[in-house]
Amino acid sequence: MYIVPEVLIAGLVSPADAFAAMEACFAAMARGEARNFPVVREALGGGRQYGFKSGLDAAGGQLGVKAGGYFPGNAARGITNHQSTVYLFDPETGRPIAMVGGNLLTALRTAAASALSIDRLARQEARVLGILGAGHQAQFQLRAAARVRAFGRVVAWNRSPEKLARLGAVAAELGLAFEAVSLDRLGAEADVIITITSSDRFSLRDAQVRPGTHLSCMGTDTIGKQEVEPTLLARAALFTDEPAQSVSIGEAQHAVAAGLVAASSIVPLGDVLTGRHPGRRSDSEITLYDGTGMGLQDLAVAAVALRRAQEVGTALSVAL
Ligand code: NAD
Repeated sequence: MYIVPEVLIAGLVSPADAFAAMEACFAAMARGEARNFPVVREALGGGRQYGFKSGLDAAGGQLGVKAGGYFPGNAARGITNHQSTVYLFDPETGRPIAMVGGNLLTALRTAAASALSIDRLARQEARVLGILGAGHQAQFQLRAAARVRAFGRVVAWNRSPEKLARLGAVAAELGLAFEAVSLDRLGAEADVIITITSSDRFSLRDAQVRPGTHLSCMGTDTIGKQEVEPTLLARAALFTDEPAQSVSIGEAQHAVAAGLVAASSIVPLGDVLTGRHPGRRSDSEITLYDGTGMGLQDLAVAAVALRRAQEVGTALSVAL
């Protein structure tokens, strides 16, 4: 089997690679060729979360699991809060194929899925990007979103505003104007809003979001997390990566539990990619993508990393 350690990933997989992998992965799901298995996620205490996301892409020949989670004390230790490793197996024999560092891959695939939703659902003339959150994932979200629309300006909000400076530096690097704003201003000015916080109580209120906005709600990936007011979901056309996860661990868990939206109204993004659903229906519609994070996304980018590492000869080979 092969080992592709975390330290090699940056040189192997680009945001463009991750975007292409997400397009293929979501479309394979919509065609019924790939499926996610139920997520296992357990609290370890002290805010730590640990679990497994797994799936099978029969057409792509990928079987595997991402093991890892969220360890909020890590930042103080100088390492990222999200820690994970992807294991790929031969779908026919079950023999291990590779162990691939999953930290950067998680950020790349999460940002790519968000960007894919923006690409397919946001208004073409979207020019102002709003971002809630300034943690580890936020800068990846900004970089990926900037690839799919001609944004000129970023308006951002974070609970601790001093952390926004790092996001501002990324915006400057991308040639985008950047401003730290209130949530009122963010909602009033942004054409696209990405939420990427680990909050357990919504920050963005329904009334702060104007018609025509596209939202990528990416931070809620566990029972109990929440980023936007549930009534906003009742006003929006809802899309997701995986409907079963959207209603159980995604942003929609609250609106569905409160009876504000029907689970059956949440459309897989893959249906938009394959043309089964038209996507945005008007310039005034609010579209909301509930990105919960799927095992199949992890397998797809890990497979790219493995292939590239084998091509350039950097994958470490271990005898079984
Ligand atoms: P991080 O710990 O680096 O940053 C957390 C961010 O959330 C910070 O901006 C912080 O200010 C904000 N925040 C925390 N509590 C808040 C509150 N009560 N109100 C408002 N803001 C609050 O985390 P990260 O690595 O950037 O991840 C952010 C979130 O994205 C996490 O919930 C993580 O689990 C989730 N995530 C989702 C996916 C997916 O596929 N959907 C993938 C990776 C991470």
